[in-house]
Amino acid sequence: MMKLSYQQINNLIELTIATVDDSLGCDGCLELMDQFAQAELDDTVMPDAMEAVRIHLEQCKCCKDEYEALMIALREVR
Ligand SMILES: [Zn+2]
Repeated sequence: MMKLSYQQINNLIELTIATVDDSLGCDGCLELMDQFAQAELDDTVMPDAMEAVRIHLEQCKCCKDEYEALMIALREVR
């Protein structure tokens, strides 16, 4: 399970937005990962913001590992 609090994530997001505006980054990916995983499980159409998550996951092993752990956890509770 993810250990970051929403406050911590929001702080990270603000830092990311301040320094990077052309890519999602790991912090932005983590922020959207829960929504992305829910959409994936529900098989709903992905908003554009979610496509950025998908692109990031394809390029970032760190976030992909996190995402796969999240998916396992979500499937267990369903
Ligand atoms: Zn990442």
